[in-house]
Parts: sequence; structure tokens; C-alpha cells
Amino acid sequence: MTETTTTRAVAEIGGVPLDVLAERVGSTPFFAYDRAALTERVALLRRTLPRDLQLSYAVKANPMPAVVQHLAGLVDSLDVASADEMRVALDTPLDGSRISFAGPGKTPAEIRRAVAANVTIEMESETEARRVAQAGEELGIRPRAAVRVNPDFRVKGSGMRMGGGPQQFGVDAEVVPDLLREIAATDIEFRGFHIFAGSQNLSAEILCEAQRKTVELALALAAEAPDPVRYLNIGGGFGIPYFDKDEPLDLDAIGANLHELLSTLVRPALGDETRVVTELGRYIVGEAGHYVTRVVDRKQSRGQTFLVVDGGMHHQLAASGNFGQVIRRNYPVSIGTRAGAEPSETVSVVGCLCTPLDLLADKALLPEADIGDLVVVHQAGAYGLTASPTAFLSHPAPAEVLV
Ligand SMILES: *Cc1c(COP(=O)(O)O)cnc(C)c1O
Repeated sequence: MTETTTTRAVAEIGGVPLDVLAERVGSTPFFAYDRAALTERVALLRRTLPRDLQLSYAVKANPMPAVVQHLAGLVDSLDVASADEMRVALDTPLDGSRISFAGPGKTPAEIRRAVAANVTIEMESETEARRVAQAGEELGIRPRAAVRVNPDFRVKGSGMRMGGGPQQFGVDAEVVPDLLREIAATDIEFRGFHIFAGSQNLSAEILCEAQRKTVELALALAAEAPDPVRYLNIGGGFGIPYFDKDEPLDLDAIGANLHELLSTLVRPALGDETRVVTELGRYIVGEAGHYVTRVVDRKQSRGQTFLVVDGGMHHQLAASGNFGQVIRRNYPVSIGTRAGAEPSETVSVVGCLCTPLDLLADKALLPEADIGDLVVVHQAGAYGLTASPTAFLSHPAPAEVLV
């Protein structure tokens, strides 16, 4: 009997072989998000974090409507950073009161929309507080709002620092008591505080320390608040490994720390009714996403091999190293149509843009690939398409699918 093998040497996303998925999508390049991976990631967070800590998804990490819809059924709330993200969030079954709206420079028009939708507005300045109060008066709707605090400490090791020192985000902690007195004189429904120190942190030790300082600051400010604090958003900043030497975050350590902080500090001071929330973007979606491109040319130049693919930095800027990175390092890349093949050559994967910045993998050791093969950039679920300059070089936008 001859042995037949049904195993295809092709990687899968969401159980669908990549070459079949490419046919189903109908064109390359495209982003594919793995539904089961999203579900599993939220389940892991639920298992590990305290039961009375609510989970919010930061929509800006990936605002694809199908992704947001799926996650809306798994998390407790959504955090948006623009009126259009708010529109996507309001299309989910979640009530407006389960949506929070953060970000500097909210216009009076955006604030009116948020007030009309009963969304919790995270006020980032005195001006915003005045606009919120005014929108409430004009609409005859009592606005729900929280104060975003720029903490009086800094967090080391974050890919992007968004709190501590001078910031465009939030109200400096030391002037929050003055603002609270102003809010008390308005008809704003004061809900509580939002403190977000930074993003993409892989050190559990640093994150635990930041969580402790965040809770201590929030409780000190709660004593100055006009109403009981019913909402406390302690931020997040959980990182994912992108590069060779990155170690995944020790989520167990984070969970244990949060258990302790909630039971010894937060609950005794604020009671059981207060919604305590951690908001996460990339930790939920980052590893569930893949950017799939096709090799259109393979060429040699003075001893170096280049795979030229039909995608590039205009869709996946972060993989090219131009989205906030100080030193360019390779994102994980694979040849999706040569799964299981041994890495056998060193190649550079470049995009189709006419700029040397369009480098997806610099001298990476990969299985041999040719024209027609699919090259996949992994860890592409967060800050991919919507954080990239899609209009640069006027190529078409890629498809996005949830598989
Ligand atoms: C961007 C952002 C997040 C999400 O950050 P991740 O690194 O994707 O988890 C959370 N909160 C606020 C206020 C943000 O601006």
C-alpha cells in the first residue's frame, strides 16, 4: 500500500490553510485575525485576573468592526479614543454606559455625541470639563464623566510612556483636587478616575509597581472627590513579545498583585459597587493577527537575496520599525506556504514601496521561498493597518478578515 499524506505544508489561520484563505479573500496582501485566539486570550485574562476586575478592550489597537463585535461579547466594556471608534463600539450590544471615551483634543461636537450616547467621558483637561458640562446643559442630559489623571510617577520600560512628567494626556495629579471642586459645581455625574501610565511593558515587576502607585494615587484623590468613586480605570500596558529576546509577560504575577491590591486597598476604601477596570489593547488582539503578503519578485543584489512582496510598511508600519521604535528589529516572519521546511537561507523581505524604509525583515533566516509564496508577518493584530500610512505610494488598501 502506498502511503498517502494529507498534510499540506501550509500554515493555517483559524484552521484554514493559508493558501486556501488567500483564495477565499481573493487578493493579497491581507490581514487575518484568528477568532479562537481572541476568545482564548480573553479567557486567559479572566482565569488569571481577579473576578471583580473588569476587562475593557481599547478599540484603537484594532477597530475592525467584526473584531470589536466579537470582543464586545467577551469583555465588560470598550474604551474608545475618537468619535468614529465610539460609533463602532455603539454598534455592538454594549450599552453606552459600558463605553469610555479617552484621548486629548475631544472637540465640542465629539463630546456632544458622547453625552447623547451616555458614554463615560474621560476628561483630559479643565477645558474638556467645561465642554462636558456645557454639552449636558444644551442637551438636557446629565453627562457621565471621569477625570483622566496624569500620574505623579513614571513607569520605566514602556514602549510608549503616556503618564508622568509633562503630558498632553490627563490632568496633572496635583491639580486634580481643584478640578474636582469645579466639577462639583456643575451637573456632571462624576464617576471616578482613569490613570494610564504607558503601553507595551513586558516587565511584571514594573507593571505591579505601577499598579500599586496607581491605586494609591486614585485612593488619595478619591478622598477629594465630590461623589463616591464608582469607576476606577487603572490602565493596563500589558506588552506582548515582538522580538527575539522578548520574554512573554508573567501574567500570573500580575494577577496575584491585582488580587492583593483589590482586597487590601481598593475594596476596603471604595466598596464592592465600584467598577474597577483594566483596559487592554495589544495584549488582547496583537498575537491573534497576521499580515499575509505574496512574493512578487525574488532578486539578488551583490550577494544579498531580496524577497519583494506585494505588501509593506503602508499596511504594517510597525514591522518596518518606523512606529515608535528606537532600534529597528525584525518582527516574527514566516513563509506560510513552506510550513515545516527548515530555514535554509538568509533573505531580506522588502515591501513594494519605493523607499528603503519599506523593510519587513532584515537578513532573516527563512526556508527558501520563491515568487508566489506567502510571507506572513506575525504579531500584527494590534496597531497594524490603522496605524499605517495607507495612502503612501497610492497602493490599494488590504482586506481584513476575521477567521
Ligand atoms: C492606547 C491606549 C490603550 C491601549 O494600549 P495597549 O498597549 O494597546 O494595551 C489603553 N488605554 C489608553 C488610554 C490608551 O490610549
